[in-house]
Amino acid sequence: MTLRREETIQIPESDLDGMSVDTLAVRAGQIRTDQLEHSDAIFPTSSFVYGSAAQAAARFGGEEPGNIYSRFTNPTVQAFEKRLAAMEGGERAVATASGMAAILATCMSLLKAGDHVVCSRGVFGTTNVLFQKYMARFGVTTSFVGLTDLAAWESAITPDTRMLFLETPSNPLCEVADLAALAELAHRNDALLVVDNCFCTPVLQRPFEHGADLVIHSATKYLDGQGRCVGGAVVGPNTLMEEVYGFLRSAGPTMSPFNAWVFHKGLETLPIRMRAHCDNALELAQWLEGRAGVESVFYAGLVSHPQHELARRQQSGFGGVLSFKLVGGRDEAWRFIDATRMISITANLGDVKTTVTHPATTTHGRLSPEDKAQAGITENLVRLSVGIEAIDDLKRDLERGFAALGA
Ligand SMILES: *Cc1c(COP(=O)(O)O)cnc(C)c1O
Repeated sequence: MTLRREETIQIPESDLDGMSVDTLAVRAGQIRTDQLEHSDAIFPTSSFVYGSAAQAAARFGGEEPGNIYSRFTNPTVQAFEKRLAAMEGGERAVATASGMAAILATCMSLLKAGDHVVCSRGVFGTTNVLFQKYMARFGVTTSFVGLTDLAAWESAITPDTRMLFLETPSNPLCEVADLAALAELAHRNDALLVVDNCFCTPVLQRPFEHGADLVIHSATKYLDGQGRCVGGAVVGPNTLMEEVYGFLRSAGPTMSPFNAWVFHKGLETLPIRMRAHCDNALELAQWLEGRAGVESVFYAGLVSHPQHELARRQQSGFGGVLSFKLVGGRDEAWRFIDATRMISITANLGDVKTTVTHPATTTHGRLSPEDKAQAGITENLVRLSVGIEAIDDLKRDLERGFAALGA
């Protein structure tokens, strides 16, 4: 029997050209077997079989494309990679076992002993450890600079600088870096601009459109959005991704088919979830600003935010993470957090459930007092990763925190 439509099995890639990120999230990277299942199949297998010894030889020799072993390729993992690459507008994505494995693979495949990295201060804590402790052991040195201080980025560059690495917006103070300016600086100095796009996701920010060379994801956060799996990805042009893929294939921190299937399904709802996160976060930020008991609010969607205009240009939404300083110190921050009942006390972010944390004693607890002061991580700072619950229920829960402070 002939199929009514060939694309029942596979949407032609050319059909995806020009589609919006909302459509790509549900239609790009579709896999469908001849069973014509509507949901995407999952292939939990370590290896693949061949029709003959000759075919096995052709596969291993690279003359015939196809799967060999799931550390190299797996159809479920490839489906997630194709969907994410399409959404980011990058040529190729490679999935990894975690966000940290994505950063490790990027460094190990594209840097060598003697190279130098400039990194924004206040990146994810483990990223800091990776650069300062482990990459340093292999002769790759790193200088840390303020995210928004373009002159500091420029003066930190040495003849050995091969990579500029950053997160924007930053965690937890929501500072926003000028990606186009940093891309220009990187390329003028023969270095790569690597952007950890975890906070915005391709729905809110597409770093390649501003000149970035590689995009990193912790899929653990918004891409899943429901706190189920740990995973990551690197996205970029084929030439660079061939190196990143080569390292992963040899070193092994690849993504499991089950996790890839969860993330692939997660991407389908990412656009509507991100809009809900943004709407709730903006409303809470405005509600918190000027409220009795609140000293200051950090959210790029507020007109009072120093990079508000830049964020408007560079992002299509301001994201789900915000932080604020309470009047007082650690005692007030902890009492506020402990008085909430629905909101989860956890350092994780990007979940449909709202989470609250005290950065100075959790995510940023390992920083020295000087580094904390420099990064603006004070004892009265509270961070929210705003979920998709009804805004009135969130306000009611936060009111419990204010009530505990008598505010
Ligand atoms: C969580 C996180 C990472 C690390 O990702 P894992 O999946 O936990 O390894 C990297 N960057 C940012 C911005 C993160 O929030």
